[in-house]
Amino acid sequence: MSAATVVRTRFAPSPTGDLHLGGARTALYAWAWARRHGGQFVLRIEDTDLERSTPAAVQAIMDGMHWLDLDWDEGPFFQSKRMVRYRAVIAQMLERGTAYRCWASTEELDQMREQQRAQGHKPRYDGRWRPENAARTGLTPPAGVDPVIRFRNPDEGSVTWDDLVKGPISIANDELDDLIIARGDGTPTYNFCVVVDDLEMQITHVLRGDDHVNNTPRQINILRALGGQEPVYGHLSMILGPDGEKLSKRHGATSVVEYDAQGFLPEAMVNYLARLGWSHGDAEIFDRHELVQWFDAAQISRSPAQLDFDKLRWVNAQWLKRLTPVELAKRLEPHLKKRGWSEAAMTSGPDLPIACALVFERAHTLEELAD
Ligand code: GLU
Repeated sequence: MSAATVVRTRFAPSPTGDLHLGGARTALYAWAWARRHGGQFVLRIEDTDLERSTPAAVQAIMDGMHWLDLDWDEGPFFQSKRMVRYRAVIAQMLERGTAYRCWASTEELDQMREQQRAQGHKPRYDGRWRPENAARTGLTPPAGVDPVIRFRNPDEGSVTWDDLVKGPISIANDELDDLIIARGDGTPTYNFCVVVDDLEMQITHVLRGDDHVNNTPRQINILRALGGQEPVYGHLSMILGPDGEKLSKRHGATSVVEYDAQGFLPEAMVNYLARLGWSHGDAEIFDRHELVQWFDAAQISRSPAQLDFDKLRWVNAQWLKRLTPVELAKRLEPHLKKRGWSEAAMTSGPDLPIACALVFERAHTLEELAD
């Protein structure tokens, strides 16, 4: 990255549910990295899976980001609204020969894989519809079948990138087959849309969960075929439950806004999530300005982070102590209302700030304080 390059990061959630802790941490890191460099943070909604994407989930994600005060500079861009653009890029690739039509049927592909397995090979598409192969073997398009479009993956060499979190990673091209970039009905596939977007949105740093690490070499190849230069990638390790297992509902709230209802402060949540997989010396309690000042994506931990609810409660208690009694009383109001307090009761009853000042030392959350 040259000194003149503006840092542009993005958060690209698929709107299929609430903003989970893992997604929130990814968004926070991407936001902090952009802010650290005076760059831009883009919000992109990856809603190409129309069956699983819902407007409610889009709203839930944005609510979560608002609550954490992660402001974005551009977007939200919706992939579902960019179909014309994706199709245009595919047409261009077909013309240039970096993509081609493939008429192989499902049965044919199954058979191909079975044979490969029987011969002890790793199953992969054999490139039979690459134009030169089809010409050689005399394949002609069957009537009445809509072809898929495949990316022509390079045969030789390997894809290497220096992952910000995981270090150098290299995948041989012969491990990658020709990826489908558009289905028979013309709709573009997930990996393809990501590449077009990262390129056209001029993203310089992609921070995302390490469940995407296998997509990266494919995305880099497509990006190069489009004449783009790859961004810096950083793949974040998972957040695990306190027992070291994959985080799930049974561990407690997985969605960030549930922590709002439970009486956690957004400042504490930002602080806690930032520390979950990253550190700055022995600093435990810091605000977003300090985070932005200190955040170094190259120092994100490689090992999975483990949730620790006692630690989160402790961080929250520290943040309750940082608020003035007046501010504390203001934050407490929704929790009192939940308990049936009317506006009048809150102003005519005991002086809330004074009451808060008397008892806040004992509370870990606003809910406890309200009780
Ligand atoms: N939409 C993907 C997800 O929610 C993220 C893809 C990316 O960041 O590249 O997992």
